[in-house]
Amino acid sequence: MKTLLTGGTVVSMDPSVGDLERGDVLIEDGVIAEVAERVEAPDAEVIDATDRIVMPGFVDNHRHTWQTAFRGIGADWTFPEWAVAMHGTVKPHYQPEDVYAGTLLGRLEALHSGVTTMLDWYHVAQTPEHEDAAVAALRDAPGRSIYCLGAGWGTPDPVDADIRRVRSGLSGDGLVTMALGLRGPAATGMDTVARELKLAAELDLRTSLHIEAGGTITELHQHGLLRDTTTFVHANGIGDEELRMLAGAGGWLSISPDVELKMGFGSPMTGRALAAGLRPTLSIDDVPSVGGDMFSTMRTAFAVQRGLDGGLRSRDLLEFATVDAAASCGLGDRTGSITPGKDADIVLLRADDLTVFPVTDPAATIVSAGHPGLVDTVLVAGRLVKRDGALVDVDLAALRTRLVASRDRIAAAAGIPLDGTWRPQPAAE
Ligand SMILES: [Zn+2]
Repeated sequence: MKTLLTGGTVVSMDPSVGDLERGDVLIEDGVIAEVAERVEAPDAEVIDATDRIVMPGFVDNHRHTWQTAFRGIGADWTFPEWAVAMHGTVKPHYQPEDVYAGTLLGRLEALHSGVTTMLDWYHVAQTPEHEDAAVAALRDAPGRSIYCLGAGWGTPDPVDADIRRVRSGLSGDGLVTMALGLRGPAATGMDTVARELKLAAELDLRTSLHIEAGGTITELHQHGLLRDTTTFVHANGIGDEELRMLAGAGGWLSISPDVELKMGFGSPMTGRALAAGLRPTLSIDDVPSVGGDMFSTMRTAFAVQRGLDGGLRSRDLLEFATVDAAASCGLGDRTGSITPGKDADIVLLRADDLTVFPVTDPAATIVSAGHPGLVDTVLVAGRLVKRDGALVDVDLAALRTRLVASRDRIAAAAGIPLDGTWRPQPAAE
């Protein structure tokens, strides 16, 4: 089966392919076969990409979709307020069907805005039924997804037997794969971290870990536990020496600029990471607090770093959100750029939309003015999942009804108002 994207402006994010003011992309059996100014493929199904920017799909390597039903409710919250609200107040009332509805709508939203690969950092209730519901939702959304089984904030750590159980269900070469979320030495002790990393290596799982203050990376380094398969999330409090340690180990950093700035974590580490030799990546984190698209995330990270030191070019942000994030997920040979041999995870953006027209520099336009309304067409491994601005074969009306019912039931059970007056009360220090 062949598909030919014709006449688009190609931003490949692959230096050997470059950008094409007018280019064609040939896809064969879900894989990018050829990228050139003109490709002859008379037997291919043609998708007209005229007036479209053709770019690789975004990669978000850290998002907690289970919270989707409470979108926007925490825009004004601090981090302690978010923690007591989401983990202390609503989480105990989540049933498996709530996890399913939140995860599915959260994943579909990401696809809708061009995120073809997403790591779903799972830390809601720990029963096999809840976990299976999350995996089922990721399977039902036609994206490339990584189910990151983790814990935190009152959720018990997953036990080895359960990690193995989930892994055995995600052992194939399909679009949904697995990672392991760690809590880190401060929460679980170094012995547990060492055991979890050993198990992750045995099961061929990458790991991810939220950190705030400095010290953790040094400790892991001293114990020989810094891995090139681990992504550290946020890390705003760490020093330059730890950044260099992380770079030396080949580890990864995921920056969620909006959450970090708004909720009191500190400045995003973009510029300091680059100075230490580390390629940063970008992520959304959670939609109760912030929007779920990578355009605004890139823009925040860009503006903050430019404000601090004038560093970064718009293309850097696109790299963080595509090729670099793909590599952080261990998927650098599969996705993240429009490269022959990689899977066809491709997004077509409207270049004729009045908010961006006329497009003179496509990469700069995407970063400075891009938004989800431009996302016209999305392909994942060559499959059309969004076409002409609408998700393909998704009954959104039914899913909306289901998510609202889930939200209302949880809110009633937790005794929280949904009229904008909810102000969570963190315990006093
Ligand atoms: Zn997070």
